[in-house]
Formats: sequence, C-alpha cells, structure tokens
Amino acid sequence: MTALLTAEAVVRRYGSLVAVDRVDLRVADGERHALIGPNGAGKTTLLDLIGGATPVDGGRIVFAGRDVTRLGPARRARIGIGRIHQRPAVWSSLTARENVEIAGWHRAGGFRSMGGRSRRRLRESAEALLDRVGLAVVSAVPAGHLSHGQRRQLEIAMALAGRPRLLLLDEPAAGLSQLEVQRLAELLAGLPREVSVLLVEHRLDLVYTLADTVTVLHDGRLVATGEPDEVRTAPAVRRAYAEAVR
Ligand code: ATP
Repeated sequence: MTALLTAEAVVRRYGSLVAVDRVDLRVADGERHALIGPNGAGKTTLLDLIGGATPVDGGRIVFAGRDVTRLGPARRARIGIGRIHQRPAVWSSLTARENVEIAGWHRAGGFRSMGGRSRRRLRESAEALLDRVGLAVVSAVPAGHLSHGQRRQLEIAMALAGRPRLLLLDEPAAGLSQLEVQRLAELLAGLPREVSVLLVEHRLDLVYTLADTVTVLHDGRLVATGEPDEVRTAPAVRRAYAEAVR
C-alpha cells in the first residue's frame, strides 16, 4: 500500500526532555494504525506533531505527497488530517445535528453564505453521518445532554464531516463503559477504507481488534512497529511496559 503519511525522524523537545526522539512513522493509505506505549511515551505529542498542534524541532512530515511540516493545524485539516481529542470538543447548547452541520459548513468554506439547496445538503449529510455513528435517534438533542460515549460518537461524526483522509484519534476509549467501547470498536471498524486511522489508545483489546499495524513508543523512542501479533510478543515491547511499571 502507498504511504498516506510519513513522519521522518521527527523530534519534539520540552526543555531538556526529548518527548519525541527521531521517530519514523508510516501510515499506509486505508490503514488502521495504533500507537501504544506506557504513560509519557510521547504518543499524544506525536499526534500533535502530525496534526500540526505542536511544531517539530526536527524532522519532516509528508502527507499525501506534500511536505506539511510547516503548515498549521487548520491548513492540515483542510487537506485531510482530522483530529479527535482526549476530551470530546462539542458545542453543548447546539443539537447533535447542528454540531455536525457546523463541521460540514466549515469544510465547505464557512465564510461563504449558503443558499437553501446547500443548506439542505448540509443537513442531509449531517443526518447521514449521525446515522453512521449510531446517533440518528438523538439528532435533535442538545450535545450537552448526551452521555460521554455519545459525545465521543458525535465528535467522530463531526470529524468525518471534514472529509478527512487521515483521522487522528487520541484515546477515544478513555472514560467509556465496556459497552461503549464495544460500540466505538464497531464504529471505527465500520469506517470506510478511504479514511485511514492513527489511533492512540491504552485499551489494548481495542487496539488488537482494530489495528493492521501497531507502533510502540517508549521514552519518546520507537521501540517496535509491525503487525499486532509480532508486536504483542516482541521482547522490546515487554521490556518497555515492564520498565514503566517499575
Ligand atoms: P499518556 O499515555 O500518559 O497520555 P503520552 O505517551 O501521550 O502519555 P505525552 O503526553 O506525549 O505522552 O508526553 C510525553 C512527555 O512529554 C511526557 O514526559 C510529558 O510530561 C512531556 N510533555 C508533553 N507535553 C508537554 C508540554 N506542553 N510541556 C512540557 N512537557 C510536556
């Protein structure tokens, strides 16, 4: 498969701490790629570097054949890098459908005023996305009244409204019940392959169900990358987790 994203020797420092230390990462087109590792390994920082929320101190990021290293997060979002944060970011007083409509409106250029037909299309597409993430029945409910799990689903619908080619997900299962994690796993497994996924997650059951490739970070460094079964049994991975609990 061709690479959709490549990060080459990316570095991020905070003072004397090297949070991400010359990491190479490749996400193939259509791939579900998981990033795991003990607390403080540099996973969120690496997502921030790829999404553009944090600038790199070294290295290069290429997305869809284009060097995006110096682009800000809004530009990267426009060319297809969508992001889901650890805490769902939704507009609480707006309905679920309005939240998705706004995300779609933003994608369509935002600042331009829209005619009746475009607004109708936006609404239909928001409804279809809510249906896809399992929220059709709460389409008219204010987002603030939804459960944490439903807000997570809503955020995914909002990200999809931006028509991403790569979706960055930071610990989407955090704070979810077992049933909600199961629903999330089904939702992510059902995403079309046109959307590649880079997932940071501590829930290894979710990781090993979904991922085609798993990359393990420890102390900012890449310690292993490969198919889930290879990585699961790799001595370097066991050592990284054993060191982390010591
Ligand atoms: P977790 O699984 O606990 O979320 P992580 O693997 O996502 O951890 P990061 O959040 O990327 O790890 O943090 C990597 C290291 O960088 C940690 O030591 C963290 O304290 C440090 N760090 C992250 N962001 C900053 C910041 N803004 N300022 C200073 N240090 C930071």
